[in-house]
Amino acid sequence: MTDGTMPDRIMLHIDGKQLPAADGATFPLHNPATGEHMGEVANAGAVDVDAAVAAARTAFEDRRWSGMRPRDRARILNRAAGLLAERIDEFARLETLQIGRPLREMRAQLRRLPEWLEYFGAVAQSAEGTAPDFGNGYLNVVRRVPLGVAGLITPWNHPLLITMKKLSAALAAGNSIVVKPSELGPAVPAALVGLLEEAGVPPGVVNTITGLGATTGRFLSEHRGLDKLDITGGTETGRVVAANAGRSLIPVTAELGGKAPVIVFDDVDVDEAVAGALFAAFIATGQTCVQGARVLIAENMYDAVVSRLVERTRTLRLGDPLDAETQIGPLVSSAQREKAAAAVDRAREQGAIVLCGGRVPAGAQYAAGWFYEPTVVADVTDAHDLWYDEVFGPVTLVRPFRDEADAIAQANDCPFGLAASVWTRDVGRAVRVADQLDIGIVWINDHHRIDPASPWGGSKDSGIGSENGWDSYRAYTRTQSVVINSAAGIPDWFGSSADLRYS
Ligand code: NAD
Repeated sequence: MTDGTMPDRIMLHIDGKQLPAADGATFPLHNPATGEHMGEVANAGAVDVDAAVAAARTAFEDRRWSGMRPRDRARILNRAAGLLAERIDEFARLETLQIGRPLREMRAQLRRLPEWLEYFGAVAQSAEGTAPDFGNGYLNVVRRVPLGVAGLITPWNHPLLITMKKLSAALAAGNSIVVKPSELGPAVPAALVGLLEEAGVPPGVVNTITGLGATTGRFLSEHRGLDKLDITGGTETGRVVAANAGRSLIPVTAELGGKAPVIVFDDVDVDEAVAGALFAAFIATGQTCVQGARVLIAENMYDAVVSRLVERTRTLRLGDPLDAETQIGPLVSSAQREKAAAAVDRAREQGAIVLCGGRVPAGAQYAAGWFYEPTVVADVTDAHDLWYDEVFGPVTLVRPFRDEADAIAQANDCPFGLAASVWTRDVGRAVRVADQLDIGIVWINDHHRIDPASPWGGSKDSGIGSENGWDSYRAYTRTQSVVINSAAGIPDWFGSSADLRYS
């Protein structure tokens, strides 16, 4: 439970109980906008991770949740959706306090989240098995059964959205869960468990272990008591977690880094293209996996789009993320700001031109927080690091393209393949371009749009599998094939050969 103020202590939640770490360890949580110390977070050790996995295992095996009819699980998920809808403002405020993302954006994002619980409740109710034709004398029923205990490892940039995407599919399918939220965004995922239990999810089904990636996250991903790992995070973290899943021979879903192109053709209005590019590049202060990090512009309108983009970028309002007028908040941490600043400095050294931003803003109101000006960089070549590397901050680059084929080639020249947007009024071109992008999510004349029914996942270094939609529900189940002998008598294989049946 929360009233929108940050609790002094964020605890583990294991088997329905709020607990400190067994050894009492904590780590501090700071407000990214002010640097203020907001509270202490329980730092789960191996013993706590064992306890959480054991609680989830017991809950799974005694069937308190997995054995419930999907319709009854859906009823509870719908109740949770209702409770969440009532608490959006409190949760949005907490999200802003912990990650510094402007409150107006957090409200808009969180308002959608009850839909994930509703959608996956509906999927669970309408999921069906199959009955393949096994041949004469047999009935084959293929059921979808839950996997068991799922370990969910989530990042800080959308703490509740990403937890919700994974958790609602996993829960709807009947699994038990251990969530390890990011050390930079633990408050709301921790508060969510209380809400789920209030709605009727039995204790032990969802457990939260807060802690650091290198310890708590590692202990969870190496744990042999899991049946699935689901991570959203950086590509290198994803490789480690996926390797651990491989060692345990369990399935993994990995939603990792991105470097999304925004492809602007010359049949769109300059102002519309610029509004789209700003939205793509700077929402969440650029800290999204699908950030429009490469704005590719038809060469005959390049100058017009770039000058308008720079002009509008300079007018974005930085400030206190709790202020409803603020458009750009701080970055989440000093490390994240240093990473963004280092990427821009390196681009400068390699010969790129910083058209605007590229520095820490001046002014007393920015002194204590992790602010960085929204930045547009030009003259980036494919010999520059900025062309390939994910910055994960308010930094985008602009580059011209000659024609459709060149736009597609530039967009695909990337280690990541998570998302892209294509801006054109020509339907045929939109379809042709989307078809040739080796990219998991393609928006036409929009960016950042998400829906619980629509698959979310990328190719190449952006990960494995997807969230949302039927595929993610199925990825939280496995098949069980039940083969029923419907013959009148039981065959005697070692009796007379006339008894043998091969069909
Ligand atoms: P991160 O990789 O640092 O951390 C993600 C989570 O993994 C955290 O909970 C962290 O504690 C944990 N972790 C870190 N090291 C670990 C280890 N060795 N073993 C197990 N767990 C470990 O990422 P972040 O900085 O929190 O998030 C930013 C990254 O996430 C960006 O690369 C971004 O593109 C990506 N992201 C991807 C999507 C997507 O849908 N594809 C969405 C959001 C963010």
